[in-house]
Amino acid sequence: MAESDKMMAMVYHGPGNKAWESVPRPTIDKPTDAVVKLVKTTICGTDLHILKGDVPAVTDGRILGHEGVGVIEEVGGAVSNFKKGDRVLISCITSCGKCEYCKKQMYSHCEDGGWILGHLIDGTQAEYVRIPHADNSLYPIPEGADEEALVMLSDILPTGHEIGVQYGAVKPGDVVAIVGAGPVGMSALLTAQFYSPGELVMIDVDDARLEMAKKFGATKVINSSKVDPVEELMKMTKDGVDVAIEAVGIPQTFDICQSVVRPGGHVANVGVHGKSVDLQIQTLWIQNITLTTGLVNTNTTPMLLKTVQAEKLLPAQLITHHFEYDQFMEAYEVFANAAKEKALKVIITNNG
Ligand code: NAD
Ligand code: ZN
Ligand code: ZN
Repeated sequence: MAESDKMMAMVYHGPGNKAWESVPRPTIDKPTDAVVKLVKTTICGTDLHILKGDVPAVTDGRILGHEGVGVIEEVGGAVSNFKKGDRVLISCITSCGKCEYCKKQMYSHCEDGGWILGHLIDGTQAEYVRIPHADNSLYPIPEGADEEALVMLSDILPTGHEIGVQYGAVKPGDVVAIVGAGPVGMSALLTAQFYSPGELVMIDVDDARLEMAKKFGATKVINSSKVDPVEELMKMTKDGVDVAIEAVGIPQTFDICQSVVRPGGHVANVGVHGKSVDLQIQTLWIQNITLTTGLVNTNTTPMLLKTVQAEKLLPAQLITHHFEYDQFMEAYEVFANAAKEKALKVIITNNG
């Protein structure tokens, strides 16, 4: 293979193993594909889950990553919305736009897509990526946009907004508690403000993240390793919160949410759980609460793009560190030690 047919990529080699290495460049496989040259990408908590071996569907040799912005390098014959040279935002969710789920805007359950990038097919932590169903899975980047900020729209902002804020039905005046001040919880914090809640309470065990949350609009923060968050929330409300958003993915944090929701309120679970939780149905059955779960659909991405353009949403605030492609291993080190490094989102720029 000629040198130009190769590229560098972050390749998964089984639990605990990854390498920044030379691999074949992707090519058009189906007429609905596009090949995108990455400009900027990032690392998600989910990539760390994969590296721990928590996502066994990811096999040895898979290129990681499901977020990024880039430039169209090549399109298949059936792609009509994009052409070579167009600048695009890559959605973490691939969607055909035609199946029963896509017709319901449940793109995460697309019968020929869903979350496949960096999972079931090669992902975006590479110089180039093949995007199936390009017409539906890529978004044009508006002229003059801050492309780095838009990387936050591939996954975390639609996740926090759709699965946290929209499913949680945040309304004006509501008391909203968000458990978990990671990138996803912070994205819920930023997008909840579209709906003018009365109080936005952020709960985490990391003081540095709670400090950041205050800058992003939290009206109160609770360090749940120091005080009992349920007691605190009950003290500050009449009978609990209107909306509790779970953005960690462990039984303890789900318990906080089910303990603080008021009658008629919502518990919106966003966290990815590896273990069962103990649902207190004997208490909750009489409370008229709504419990929701979900995988991000990215159906609100076009709307979020507009709010970024209008400066109603400022995703660049979530970026704490910058790297170039030849520092990819270092970027992983920093992101994997987020508490020590005070990291939230890292941007890795393709300098090639
Ligand atoms: P993250 O690991 O960066 O953040 C989790 C936060 O939880 C951290 O700030 C951590 O300090 C805090 N935390 C840990 N234990 C805690 C405890 N006992 N009490 C309070 N806080 C605690 O993760 P993230 O990237 O922000 O993602 C959050 C969750 O959302 C993860 O489970 C992730 O897999 C999931 N996720 C879900 C979807 C979806 O579509 N539903 C999409 C993306 C991510
Ligand atoms: Zn992700
Ligand atoms: Zn579909």
